[in-house]
Amino acid sequence: MGEGAVIKQQVVGKPKAVQLDFMPFKFCPGCHESLVWRALGEVIDELDIQGKAIACLDIGCSGVLMVGLAVDGLHCLHGRSTAVAAGVKRVLPQAICFNIGGDGSLCAIGAGHMVNVMMRSDPITTIFLNNSGYGMTGGQVAPTSLIGLRTTTTPEGRDVQSTGFPLHLSEIAATMLGTAYVSRVSVHTPANYQKARKAIKTAFQKQMDGVGYSLVEILCACPPNWGLSPLAANSFVEEKLIGEFPLGEFKNVDKIEYTVDPEINRVGRVKRG
Ligand code: SF4
Repeated sequence: MGEGAVIKQQVVGKPKAVQLDFMPFKFCPGCHESLVWRALGEVIDELDIQGKAIACLDIGCSGVLMVGLAVDGLHCLHGRSTAVAAGVKRVLPQAICFNIGGDGSLCAIGAGHMVNVMMRSDPITTIFLNNSGYGMTGGQVAPTSLIGLRTTTTPEGRDVQSTGFPLHLSEIAATMLGTAYVSRVSVHTPANYQKARKAIKTAFQKQMDGVGYSLVEILCACPPNWGLSPLAANSFVEEKLIGEFPLGEFKNVDKIEYTVDPEINRVGRVKRG
């Protein structure tokens, strides 16, 4: 090959499970949800579950993945994607069912369903996108908003007296007996992206192995609603969001253990026959 020749070699391609037919691109510049999209596509390819995966999408910016992922799916009423995924799994136990939702879908209007799937250990996977506010509807305060964060409904900053403290869903999930895997990750650096991909894969694997419910919380930047440039929003994730919501694997078990106490089992109004 002569001097100065350019070698063109594709080193990375689009995951099979990602489809781009719905372009133009729907995410804002600097939005991290598009990285989650890619990570999901890569994991679905790696586990070879494209024909078995069923995505239950909630209301919010992530709902666009309904057409961005080349898997079967349902677009659910607001807050109900968790319950729908649990229901689909009961009807189709061989399917790999996962739901994707944001701060409102999983921590506010849909919080009750989250508690119930964890309590029942429904073997589904939840991908929770935490961007500290309501993205699609214009940046209102969310249960996960940082204290002091200026939102369209807390223009002076989130005030604990009127709107409470940030909700830590992963920490709550880790205390629930029915959860098999709980992890909080981010995608704001290449290294963190790889960890997020690994966490999603582990969560799906827990479901495939029939262990129980799995949750991956992913910290995401929302530059327009934070009033920051994409670059500044990336730094905000590193410097502030992770400060409130530390990254890590909160729970990872291969079996959910429990016992039935015979003495308790003798108590109750219904007598043994
Ligand atoms: S509003 Fe926020 S979450 Fe929604 S697409 Fe834009 S950056 Fe992403």
